Amino acid sequence: MRVASDVGEDGKVREPEPDKGADALMDMDSFLKAIPKVSLHLHLMGSVQARTAVELCNKHNVPLPDYEEPEDLYDYPDIYKFLHMYDNTSLGVIDREDFERICYETLTEAADHNVRYREMFFNPTAHMAAGVDYDTCVDGLIDGINAARTDHGIECRLIAAINRMETPELGVSMVETLLDHPRDEVIGIGMDYAEAEYPPERFWKAYRMAEQAGLHLTAHQSEDAPPRNIETCLDLLNCERVDHGYHVVESEAIMRRCRDEGVVFTCTPVSTAWVYFNDDFDNHPIGQMREFGIKISLDCDDPPMFKTDPTKDYIMAHNHMGFEVEDFRQCMLNGIDGSWLDEPDKRRMRREWAIEFDELVAQLD
Ligand SMILES: [Zn+2]
Repeated sequence: MRVASDVGEDGKVREPEPDKGADALMDMDSFLKAIPKVSLHLHLMGSVQARTAVELCNKHNVPLPDYEEPEDLYDYPDIYKFLHMYDNTSLGVIDREDFERICYETLTEAADHNVRYREMFFNPTAHMAAGVDYDTCVDGLIDGINAARTDHGIECRLIAAINRMETPELGVSMVETLLDHPRDEVIGIGMDYAEAEYPPERFWKAYRMAEQAGLHLTAHQSEDAPPRNIETCLDLLNCERVDHGYHVVESEAIMRRCRDEGVVFTCTPVSTAWVYFNDDFDNHPIGQMREFGIKISLDCDDPPMFKTDPTKDYIMAHNHMGFEVEDFRQCMLNGIDGSWLDEPDKRRMRREWAIEFDELVAQLD
């Protein structure tokens, strides 16, 4: 085990000790799986495995479309059909143990891909509309977090996400619920669902209330809408980071501002290439954002629903968006910077992960 004196001022190991044995060399895909990861853009319901969704829907008598294999349920022609399946799956998650199960399963998969820390979106109002009380939902998730920490060493915090296709009043009501039922694990709010017809300013009040209560703030913006939504997100909602944000490339002024202010963008190559760019990974704006110097943290959004996982999005970024080894180092550090961990934890992670990263680079074929 390395000690602190192995690390230089720049956080890099002074004398890496590569294993020269041919069988110790690692290919790029294995390297991308092995690097330590922060996960800042993953939706709980989008991470439910198809087989689990079927079992839970059957348990609670929720009707499902026809299918031969459970995975068939995750084939859809457009985002609205995807959102329908996403909502349908929510109806099958009712009991505290159901929430524990889906949370534990997604964190188990994450740990297998070397995700060490995750801030995970969940939609309280979707579950409350299905008749689940907030305590059942959040405490089940906390059970799952605790079990995953014990079994796999992964840490997780929760982001309560506003469904922007619902009313601003429901957003305010969601924040009131969080404040009436505080949990240490719920550290911020976000905003998700389809953006084009539902601009961010509708939710200024919910964001103001959350900010005044000391919650952290993020929002999905400019995934499917003009870059001015990013400025609304930063200047009106006071968000600390931007989820997606791809249309930023249409405004050099906003792109320059985000770069200069060090705003972290949480980007998900696979899910968005499918939805917005006709699976055209080579022309996905993430490559342009990287070249311009935007701070990007990669993640996988809704992994089984888009047939991806925490490593595959990194692989696509390497194969199609120009990410090389040093870009992944930066991506790792951006994830730490953009997280809502305390500064001492961030400093420790930067130091320790830099050592690990260099050890992995030394094994790269
Ligand atoms: Zn998302």
